[in-house]
Amino acid sequence: MADLRSPVDVRSELGLVASRLRDSFGVPQRKSRLPAPLDLLIATILSQNTNDVNSHKAYTNLKNRYPDLRMLAKVPPRKIEALIKVGGIANKKSKVIKRVLKEIEWRFKKFDRRSLRKTEREELIEKLRSLNGVGYKTASCVLLFSLGDNDAFPVDTHVHRVLNRLGVVSRTTPDKTFLAVKNQIPTGRGYELHLNLIKFGRRTCTAQKPRCYECSLYDICRWKEKASQVPVLKDKSKRKDFEFMLLEGV
Ligand code: SF4
Repeated sequence: MADLRSPVDVRSELGLVASRLRDSFGVPQRKSRLPAPLDLLIATILSQNTNDVNSHKAYTNLKNRYPDLRMLAKVPPRKIEALIKVGGIANKKSKVIKRVLKEIEWRFKKFDRRSLRKTEREELIEKLRSLNGVGYKTASCVLLFSLGDNDAFPVDTHVHRVLNRLGVVSRTTPDKTFLAVKNQIPTGRGYELHLNLIKFGRRTCTAQKPRCYECSLYDICRWKEKASQVPVLKDKSKRKDFEFMLLEGV
C-alpha cells in the first residue's frame, strides 16, 4: 500500500504521538545497568510466540543454570530445551540459540557492548540480521535495550498495529513498518516511544477490542472503524497485569 505522507509528516506525527503518550505514561526510566548484548539477544529469541511472564521464566531458568550464556554452545539442545520449555516451541528455540551462538563466533570478533558500539547503527542491524533467526525486531532490541541506543526503534506487533491504525504509516507487516519509520523517530526518543507504544497497545489500542472511547489519540487517529467502538462496562477484575515488560527485566 502506498503512503500518502512524506517523511516529514511521518516524523512530525511520530513526535506528536510520542508527546501525547508521554503525557499519559511519562518517560520510562532505564535501569542503571544495561543487560549484556548476548543476554538480551537470547532473551529476545525466547520471547517469540509467548507472553512476557513465561518468556522471562525460560530466560531465568537458562541464566541460573548457565550464568555465562556462551556456555550454551557446548550444551546439548535437549538440555536447553528442558530449561526453556515453559516458554513454548522449545525444540525450535533451542536450535536457534545453538546456531546463533555458533554464527556469532564466526562473524563477530567480539560480542560485547564496547565492540558492537563501534559499528554504525544500520550496518550493525544488518550484521545482526545475518545471524540465522534474527530479524529487524531482535536486532533493534539489542541496540535499544543493551547498547542504550535511544534512536533505535524495534517494531513488534503492538507498535505495528498502533502506528498503522493511527495512519502514521500504511504497511502490512512489522518489518515494513520498521523500514518506513526507522529514520523518522524523534531524536533520542526511541526508547520512550517504543515502550509507551507497547503500553498503549496493551491497554488501549488492543488487537481485538480497542478502547477508542477512552483513547488519548482519538482525535488524530485515522482508523475508519474507530467511530464504531462503543464503551463497555469495565470489569477491572479481568484486567491483566500490563506492567511487566520482558526486555526491561533482563
Ligand atoms: S482511536 Fe481506537 S484505533 Fe485509534 S489509536 Fe485510539 S484506540 Fe487505537
